[in-house]
Formats: sequence, C-alpha cells, structure tokens
Amino acid sequence: MTAERPGLNMDSRLPRRQVVFAWDMHYACNYRCPYCFYTVAGWEELAKKCAYKSAAEWGEVWRRIAAKYGRCQLRITAGEPFTYPEFAGVVAAVTDHHDVQITTNGSLPGPIADFASRIDPSRAELDCTFHPLVSDYRLFADNVLLLRKKGFVANVCYLAWPGQTKPMMDFKRRFAEDGIHMNLAVFWGRYQGRDYPQAYTAEEKAWIKSVIGQDCGPETVGLEPISVKGKLCRAGHTYADIQADGKVYRCGQLGREGQSIGSILDPAFALQAAAQPCAADYCRCKEYQSAWEPEDARDLDHKGVVR
Ligand code: SF4
Ligand code: SF4
Repeated sequence: MTAERPGLNMDSRLPRRQVVFAWDMHYACNYRCPYCFYTVAGWEELAKKCAYKSAAEWGEVWRRIAAKYGRCQLRITAGEPFTYPEFAGVVAAVTDHHDVQITTNGSLPGPIADFASRIDPSRAELDCTFHPLVSDYRLFADNVLLLRKKGFVANVCYLAWPGQTKPMMDFKRRFAEDGIHMNLAVFWGRYQGRDYPQAYTAEEKAWIKSVIGQDCGPETVGLEPISVKGKLCRAGHTYADIQADGKVYRCGQLGREGQSIGSILDPAFALQAAAQPCAADYCRCKEYQSAWEPEDARDLDHKGVVR
C-alpha cells in the first residue's frame, strides 16, 4: 500500500461576484442514489419541468442577465449536469457571460473529457461528489485527476449518509493516496424513519468529526442544526435559485409552488430590491455562504454561530 499523504483541496480561483445564481439545469441523472432529494421526490414527475434549450438559447438568456447584473457566478446543479444535451456547448456559451461552478457525480469520462478540452478553466470549477454505492472509485478519481491536469479546480465531496458512514475514512485515505482531499457533507433527510442531521447519535457525530479532522469548520456545519428563521438574508436579492423550468426562487428551501419571484426566461425578470428575513427553519444547502454578508457566513462556517 502507498504511504498515506495529505490530499490536496483546491481553493476556488473564481472571483467573488455581486450576484450568484444556483441553477438546476434539468432533472435527469444516470444514478438513482437512495439519499437523493430527486429520487425521493420522484424523477418522472420532476422531469416534466425540464425546459431544454440549446447552447445559443441559453447564451442569449444569460447575456441578458449579464447586461443587467454584470458577470455573475452560476452554481450548476440538479440531476447530473453532464447528462444535459450538449453540456460543454451550453457551458461554453454561458461562460462568455458568467463564471460557473458545477456539481457533478464525476461518472462520465466522455462528456468530462469533451468539457475539459473546450472550456476555459479560469471560468469554470467543479465539485465532484463521490457516491460509493454506485460509483467506481478508479473511474471517478481518474476523471477528477483529468480535470485537474487540464487546469480546473476540481474538489471531491462525500455525503455522510448513515448508510455509508462506515467506509468514509478508508475512502478518505484512498483519495489522499491519489493526491485528492475528500470533503464531507452532512446529510439532511430521512433514513430508516428518522430525520437527519438531528438523528445522528453522539457516536456518529464524533466519527464524522474524526474523519473531517476538526471539531468545528465548514464541513461540520449542520451537525448541530441552528435555526436561521428571521435572519436578514440576501437570498432573492443578490442570490437566487433557478429550477429547470426557469422559475426563480429565493433559495432551495423557499422553492415551493407559489414562492417563485419570477422566471429567468422572462426578459423583464428582476431580483428583489432588498434583503428579506429568512422564512425557512434551517439553511440546509449552505446557501448562506453566498446569500449572507461574508462575515456572517464566515462565523457560521468557522465558529458554528449565527449573529
Ligand atoms: S448522482 Fe446526485 S443527482 Fe444523481 S441520483 Fe445521486 S445524488 Fe441524485
Ligand atoms: S438563510 Fe438560507 S434558507 Fe434562509 S432565506 Fe437565506 S438562503 Fe434561504
């Protein structure tokens, strides 16, 4: 066995932008992870919302937004982005106007190689989530290493879902042997009839912290959920969440029917004029990192407190 060495976590090189959008491009994926929000909600029903558009059409939508808000950061998520038709072409058109950060399951060597050969690494970064129940370790790690070789910031994340917490340390070591740092994410959702993260036992929390290697930091946020209801938040004002039909919401937690603040496809679309109090109990998807004042987000990330 190779000697263990610390894996590399790459710092983002994308400039901080005034406006950040999280964009659920479509509801389709080559996996069916049991802990996935979309698997639980039902892929077939969600797929009815998908409004597929060509690279040129998306280029025009995002050109219009850039004319209004300048160069923004787009966080591309939802389903598996690399299964979107002509994904690299869409990203090429969009990155003419904005920077993008993509969350992927890192499973598709062909589309990833196509992307890596066509996209400028100074405009796009990747968060690759490893799904041990369905992913092949070698194929996944090789895709991450290819992206890095081509100059992209590409990091790895592992979800501390109770059904896969046991092998976390082994995978962390394995990634480190490949020169990659494995980040952990806390699970929000139901498992065996219990609601997480509240249902993590003290033993499970201690195990998660020992794999992370620290007691308090960005990866431990959520282990002890803190209510943020009523906190003034710029979600809707300088941050927004776009679903696959183009409807825009303040954030993922406030993304139910009737809560939309407009459509990105509407030429008259505008963000809200000011910050508003949070109307959700918890900020489950770390959207506070973009939607709060930077010092508030840092406090929660590094001290585990909310002002
Ligand atoms: S890879 Fe991601 S989007 Fe696809 S099923 Fe798994 S968690 Fe859901
Ligand atoms: S604090 Fe989080 S959940 Fe609340 S409005 Fe802001 S982004 Fe949404």
